[in-house]
Amino acid sequence: MSKRVLVTGAGGFIGHHLVRYLVERGCYVRGVDLKYPEYEPTAAHDFQILDLRRWDNCLQATAGMEEVYGLAAEMGGIGYIESNKAVIVRDSTMINMNSIEAARVNGAKRFLFTSSACVYPGYRQKESNVTPLKEDDAYPADAEDGYGWEKLYFERTCRHYREDFGLETRVVRFHNIFGPLGTYDGGREKSPAAICRKVALVEDGGTIEVWGDGLQTRSYCYIDDCVEGIYRLMRSDYPQPLNLGQDRLISINELVDLVSKIAGKTVQRKHNLTAPQGVRGRNSDNSRLREVLGWEPRVSLEEGLAKTYRFIYGELEKAGRIRALAGTAA
Ligand code: NAD
Repeated sequence: MSKRVLVTGAGGFIGHHLVRYLVERGCYVRGVDLKYPEYEPTAAHDFQILDLRRWDNCLQATAGMEEVYGLAAEMGGIGYIESNKAVIVRDSTMINMNSIEAARVNGAKRFLFTSSACVYPGYRQKESNVTPLKEDDAYPADAEDGYGWEKLYFERTCRHYREDFGLETRVVRFHNIFGPLGTYDGGREKSPAAICRKVALVEDGGTIEVWGDGLQTRSYCYIDDCVEGIYRLMRSDYPQPLNLGQDRLISINELVDLVSKIAGKTVQRKHNLTAPQGVRGRNSDNSRLREVLGWEPRVSLEEGLAKTYRFIYGELEKAGRIRALAGTAA
């Protein structure tokens, strides 16, 4: 075994994929979360159910670990993060601060923090045709209220731990990660998963609800690229925050059309203009990513969405929700 590593949030979407990726690379992996992964068993050598808001649990989780990948967080799509700010800030601050301090006390060498494109200021994201965001654009700060501010604050905490305590920290800013085995229902899902679910459940020629006018734009990064990028960043000597995303800008309406094409359906859109929409436009500038890692995400949106759609369709079918629909249509 090359390295003993801890993945926090290992029962979640990215953490679960990351555990498998690290195991395949010969690491000894301990996973920690409040829950086991939902859709398939973990690949971790050791998986512990622990609440990482608690200091004693963070000490237990980090004991004997050389590296910590910090993915545990209070997390959700735009509807969730806009209406749960206090819970997000309280829980994620406790998780992050206790995790990094326990990593230091237990002698870990590296700590990777998963930040977000939500740290970028609202004033740079007012147009659909937005200029891609460079890492330095995060300041002067005007992050997403709650979730984004907590991320930005902890990015700086990582810097202080590196400068004052010599703990090697890495900070990655994800831009909309999607793929199979992610949450697709219940209120915490993000736009690609929500759209896949809605399209899977609607009959051909039917109508789905789209949040906002659908002209808001984003870029989306497939999970396999995400875990490879995390690993490359952890292995690099780059300590500043780094974007990890695709730089293909697409509107929500276009995303609906792509998923409908994959599903082989004609789908009408009904726009809900009072639903949460987040910023008007957001894209990743990957110049620094290419420069630092000599690499960038490469899985196309079409390929990633096809796999995601198949996963969500399969889950809905298992839950009897597709059959019920077919029954209704017949
Ligand atoms: P996720 O919600 O699937 O995973 C987070 C995991 O943390 C969950 O399994 C949850 O149970 C766990 N967790 C929450 N509170 C905990 C606690 N007190 N103790 C232990 N575990 C706890 O989210 P994800 O999409 O896998 O995100 C992983 C990380 O990446 C998070 O830091 C998130 O903010 C960040 N991020 C994700 C995206 C994205 O597009 N998915 C974008 C930007 C940033």
